[in-house]
Amino acid sequence: MSTPHQKIPVAVSACLLGRKVRYDGKDKRHLRLVELLQAASLSAVEICPEVAIGLGVPRAPLALMIGAEGVRVKGLEDRERDVTDPLARYAMQVATREPRLCGMICKSRSPSCGLAVALRDPMGRALPRKVQGRFVHGLLNRLPGLPVIEEKVLDDEDGWRAFVSAVKEFACRRGMSSDRVWRPDRANGRIDR
Ligand code: SF4
Repeated sequence: MSTPHQKIPVAVSACLLGRKVRYDGKDKRHLRLVELLQAASLSAVEICPEVAIGLGVPRAPLALMIGAEGVRVKGLEDRERDVTDPLARYAMQVATREPRLCGMICKSRSPSCGLAVALRDPMGRALPRKVQGRFVHGLLNRLPGLPVIEEKVLDDEDGWRAFVSAVKEFACRRGMSSDRVWRPDRANGRIDR
């Protein structure tokens, strides 16, 4: 078991940390993310599933589409392109490679990382239904109960506190920490990425 002050790792969509890995070559940096992680004694495990499976930057945009094979991640323009299986395999690899992972902070609306992403029909037309991005879906299948949030919760003090508490509880259940109470630590400590 780790000490109460040992940082607990959470996966973070790399674009939220300022990495220019989005399909358009840009990032979606959240200005307070590093500070919030530090104060909560969490360390960031940067993850960009689309880059990790070999897609370049920039790249053609992807979308979640439903058809006879269920929910798939396909090219928005080139619908023959299907990266569902590589994303699912990468989620399994991350769950294995990062056995101490106790949460994830996800970029919203991403077909890989988002928690409630608009679904499209096989022709690419938007449907009134939302589902998990396929990377985070695979990760949650491997790590049931893993606390996950999207970036908007970073701007909601109560929501953030609830997430941190859930992460610490998850760490306790995994035998990684005895500290169920969140003690903000703004005094020192480097952010581990
Ligand atoms: S949302 Fe996820 S897949 Fe998309 S750029 Fe950010 S980290 Fe990469």
